[in-house]
Amino acid sequence: EAKRSGPGHWRQFTSDLSETQQRRVQLERRLRAALQAQRGHDQGFSVHYQPIVGLAGRQAVAFEALARWHDAELGWVSPLEFIRVAEESGLIHDLGAIVLHCALRQGRAWSEAWNQPVSMSVNVSSTQLMRCDFLEQVMSALEVTGAAASSLILEITEAVVIQDVELVNSRLQALRDRGIRVALDDFGTGFSSLAVLGTLPIDVLKVDRLFVKDVAQNARRQALLAAVILLGHRLGITVVAEGVEETSELEVLQILGCTHVQGYLFARPLPPAQISGPAHLNLAEPVTAPHNTRAAD
Ligand code: C2E
Ligand code: MG
Ligand code: MG
Ligand code: MG
Repeated sequence: EAKRSGPGHWRQFTSDLSETQQRRVQLERRLRAALQAQRGHDQGFSVHYQPIVGLAGRQAVAFEALARWHDAELGWVSPLEFIRVAEESGLIHDLGAIVLHCALRQGRAWSEAWNQPVSMSVNVSSTQLMRCDFLEQVMSALEVTGAAASSLILEITEAVVIQDVELVNSRLQALRDRGIRVALDDFGTGFSSLAVLGTLPIDVLKVDRLFVKDVAQNARRQALLAAVILLGHRLGITVVAEGVEETSELEVLQILGCTHVQGYLFARPLPPAQISGPAHLNLAEPVTAPHNTRAAD
């Protein structure tokens, strides 16, 4: 931390900056190396899966794929850090392709093992979506892995909306025309939330944990959550509450008519070997079915 005053102040400040820059450069170098080494191998990157739970059936209706990276030099690096570097350096296209293939392959394996369709929800950066060959890449991933288009959900964030809205809409519509679903992730943390809902062709709305955290003790958050859930349902969109950690949060969500949740209360993101089936959840106690729940799917 920089000192408040004295001759050391600037030196301290600039050395902090360069540490950040050094880390950035190192991350990009290691990320590039890892992506090259990845070809044909299984080192460096992996994908963990977190259930998206339908409260009506009390089991996973989909699994969100979350990228994990362990580097020999850097150790475990958070996706919050390496995804940003990957986006800024253009490496996100290769990384995104790895995650997509991995998730679709896993989804297909599970659907065969469990003898039922399994949906996979995969995060997509706006730079990926905006690339002109994105649809082709997704269709090829579906073909190579043998996964059904209807088993794929692509999660985008409000960041796409600062792009050309018409173009984004046509990209999303093209995906949906093929039977792929689109989710709007981290809803409520971006800029034009309401405008986005009025225009974007989406199937799922993921309400950010910001609105879920301590909702039982926070009347304002409760009001916002109630409105978003109602709005989503009125628009025919499935609303998923993200980051549910506490039973008290779940109780409020159920009272507000929320049908789908995701969070540590049910399961952490796990390596696939640790997931035994769609009902593999932390819950010892059955969740009480709310009176006003709509059919799950
Ligand atoms: P996200 O898409 O919003 O994913 C949810 C994040 O919340 C994950 O963090 C997950 O581990 C965490 N989470 C889940 N339940 C809870 C909970 O109950 N409490 C709390 N506090 N957190 C919870 P993670 O895995 O660190 O990923 C962070 C972000 O990195 C993701 O946020 C997503 O934006 C991005 N990301 C991860 N994998 C990929 C990827 O393959 N591609 C792209 N483009 N982005 C990715
Ligand atoms: Mg997500
Ligand atoms: Mg999210
Ligand atoms: Mg989030």
